[in-house]
Amino acid sequence: MKENSQFYTETARKWLLERGVTIDDIADLVYYLQTNYIEDLTMDLCKEHIEAVLRKREVQNAILTGIQLDRLAEKNLLDVPIQGIIERDEGLYGVDEVIALSIVNVYGSIGFTNYGFIDKQKPGILKKLNDKNQGCHTFLDDIVGAIAAAASSRLAHSAEDTE
Ligand code: MG
Repeated sequence: MKENSQFYTETARKWLLERGVTIDDIADLVYYLQTNYIEDLTMDLCKEHIEAVLRKREVQNAILTGIQLDRLAEKNLLDVPIQGIIERDEGLYGVDEVIALSIVNVYGSIGFTNYGFIDKQKPGILKKLNDKNQGCHTFLDDIVGAIAAAASSRLAHSAEDTE
């Protein structure tokens, strides 16, 4: 069966929610990244740009792939040595970041700076996802940071265009 694009969009959003990540959580991150640069920034504007990012197929693919792997690791269903690597969120693994970068890539180079910054600071939901007692979020933390970084770049570009 080949699913239609509406199905991808809805499933990606549903899986984010099931893993405890709301659009508001991501909007907090975008606000955190952009509040010093954009005058009169509102949460609604942040959400509008997140919605646009979530409509991209590349982004949906990254979300679905990452969450799927986190879930399989939580259920102990992966093989050696990947099970342990993902479960322990090993620092040198790096494939979680590569998948996240496929999201950041969609909106060009400011996205990289934002992604690196937010990954270091880990504000809001990112701190929660990093807590190893809250399940396996080896892929999801990077994906959520990347969605926020991509939405921030989109927001910054559109602000520049209107000035
Ligand atoms: Mg990670």
